[in-house]
Amino acid sequence: MKFNTKNVHMKSHQLKTDKSKATPIYQTSAFAFTDLDDMETYFNGEKNYLYTRMGNPNTDELGQAVADMENAEAGVASASGLSAILAGFLAVAKPGDHVIVAEDLYGGTFQLIDEEIRGLGIAIDFIDMTNLKAVEDAVTEKTVLIYTESITNPLLRVEDLKALVTLSEKHDLKLMVDNTFATPYLIRPLEEGADLVVHSATKYIGGHSDVTAGVLCGGSELVQQARKKITTLGSNLGPFDGWLAVRGLKTLSLRMRAQCDNAQMLADALALTPGVKRVFYPQGASDAGNGAIVTIDLEDDIDLNALTRGLSWIKVVPTLAGVETTVSYPKGTSHRALTETMRQKLGVTAQMIRISVGIEDGTDIIEAFSEAVKQAR
Ligand SMILES: *Cc1c(COP(=O)(O)O)cnc(C)c1O
Repeated sequence: MKFNTKNVHMKSHQLKTDKSKATPIYQTSAFAFTDLDDMETYFNGEKNYLYTRMGNPNTDELGQAVADMENAEAGVASASGLSAILAGFLAVAKPGDHVIVAEDLYGGTFQLIDEEIRGLGIAIDFIDMTNLKAVEDAVTEKTVLIYTESITNPLLRVEDLKALVTLSEKHDLKLMVDNTFATPYLIRPLEEGADLVVHSATKYIGGHSDVTAGVLCGGSELVQQARKKITTLGSNLGPFDGWLAVRGLKTLSLRMRAQCDNAQMLADALALTPGVKRVFYPQGASDAGNGAIVTIDLEDDIDLNALTRGLSWIKVVPTLAGVETTVSYPKGTSHRALTETMRQKLGVTAQMIRISVGIEDGTDIIEAFSEAVKQAR
């Protein structure tokens, strides 16, 4: 099956043979057995489900569906992108190990790694991933993992995954990639040779801003390790949220196609708009498109409050990837926890707006931004 077909024909995890077309929601905390022998069937592997924290058809359907999209052996869902990232780290690294991490990470991930994962006694180096020599120089005997994002936030740098795969193979390290911004529609890091891929399914996988979820994909053994961590930490996803994310995922191809087309149109238009100092929109990210996020840096005389007020139907929302076009302010939200020095180093300015481009008519989006920028001068 090709990508679009695979995208809508996911393997259902229904328990009964008389199947409904859509997978039912198994909104249950546990599964019932007729007697003790019947319960043993779970432990000898004949039945898949015992207790929802350890597994549920709806969350498994999401993990498997994203794994299929990523061409992974296995996948597991969790309560959020961050909990999937934590499970991935814990599946690979133990106290005393060393991990090399991209310095320009999503703010929440930076905090998770810098505070909690470091706090477990795992040594962390934040490195500029474009500087391969610096990455290689950071490798020690204790290094077990390199962690990065396939398309970075908010400046939308496309990572050279091939080079990082070569480097991690040379030093026998695992490579874990956050593929949230690209989605498997654009980039499939495991096909390039990465070991683990993680998603904030809160974003494009769900696609409708109505669920918080995460998915981790990779080889069966590593994903099994991660699943154990999710079970033990109690960071499992609820059944209804799994169901919602699966329903959203079925239109990933359609959404991404429309959103990438609109984003390219908008990036081109904004590049010619007076008041816009610089447009960040990657080129050549993949054959399928360049993503649906456009970041702009505005001239100093543009009042961002006036601009965001002037956007009328385009709302300020501190997330991305819904079907509606929204804007966010990296300095005040995703990168708020960073120091000003760090933000400057990463190129996140006070006049920067990140646009998550939706599926509306592209000309309406362009008109809304042109008007708002003009009014805010
Ligand atoms: C949102 C996001 C996360 C965190 O995901 P949650 O679902 O909010 O926990 C991680 N990485 C990236 C790139 C994100 O955009």
